[in-house]
Amino acid sequence: MKRFLKAFCTKHVISNEKIDNKKVETACKIIAELQKEMQAFICCGSGPFVAAIYDEKGNQIVKTANSVVNEHCSNNHAEMNAIKMAEEKFNTYDLSPYNLKLYVTAEPCIMCLGGIMWSGIKEIYYGVPTSSVEKITGFDEGFKPNWFKEFKKRGITVYGNIEIELGEQELNKYIKENRKVYNPER
Ligand SMILES: [Zn+2]
Repeated sequence: MKRFLKAFCTKHVISNEKIDNKKVETACKIIAELQKEMQAFICCGSGPFVAAIYDEKGNQIVKTANSVVNEHCSNNHAEMNAIKMAEEKFNTYDLSPYNLKLYVTAEPCIMCLGGIMWSGIKEIYYGVPTSSVEKITGFDEGFKPNWFKEFKKRGITVYGNIEIELGEQELNKYIKENRKVYNPER
């Protein structure tokens, strides 16, 4: 059973480096936890995306969710909020000396990729891919050509498609409950 669960989790995983199963295993645990905590954030008016930043020893530095609607700010995506909190915590605009890893329940959007790139975060792990997020929810995630390669060029490791099924389930629930899809009206 344990073996089956591991295989299930790693099945769709993609990366811009040779896949390291240990990193994937840790990411599966963390992202599954974040997916499960999504409901609690949604009940407080946040979500439906949750992000956390960990240090290289595996200590959680920050954990947060989108707060676009409840804080009236289109920039307040989970990743941007997490980076802001970590930078405040370390009192710096450059997190690179701390070798931090960002875990997030869905693939970062065009804005968050920029935010991650300029933050000095060294590794990113995400759950549901953009194609599924857009199909399930209707959120517009933007255009992101070759971002795996571009991040590799800048020394940022990416792992994606972690715990997809669990993440899709939570996003489907969000839509079924008629929660807000906060795209601008065009
Ligand atoms: Zn974003």
